[in-house]
Amino acid sequence: MLKKKSLRVPITSIPPEGLEVEVDLGDKYFSRWREEDPGLEFSTAQINGAARLEKHGRDILVRGHLQGHLQLACSRCVENFDAPVDADFDLLLVPGPGPAGGEEELSAPDLDLDYYSGETLDLEAVIREQIILMVPLKPLCADNCKGICPRCGAVLNLEACTCK
Ligand SMILES: [Zn+2]
Ligand SMILES: [Zn+2]
Repeated sequence: MLKKKSLRVPITSIPPEGLEVEVDLGDKYFSRWREEDPGLEFSTAQINGAARLEKHGRDILVRGHLQGHLQLACSRCVENFDAPVDADFDLLLVPGPGPAGGEEELSAPDLDLDYYSGETLDLEAVIREQIILMVPLKPLCADNCKGICPRCGAVLNLEACTCK
């Protein structure tokens, strides 16, 4: 099968048997994403994987696997920690009109649905969205993280405090 490294994929370049794209995201991607979206919850990260693109008429099925780690801030103690990433995703991209066109009922309810426009698929944006979805709502550095003392601000994983 044809293999590709660029994450900008001209739709006409996807052959009938599908296209496999290597994913290798390091700091340079994540620092750019943070510049574009300062609200991103993760800082450094290293994510590898692959995505397989298949055309079904005008729809494009993306099946990917991502693994690596993200650096997240713990929602209790605010310390950064490395969270492992190991996830598969399936996504069906259909041509516009975009989210403003309203939700459509699909015959494949198991598939996540998204839109693309133009003749080039921006796989980087697709993967960025998937990584954002992987970030837990309340990341924890450990299940038993003791958090921060609300009175003195001590990081209770590192030090005990004498507050009552
Ligand atoms: Zn913590
Ligand atoms: Zn305290």
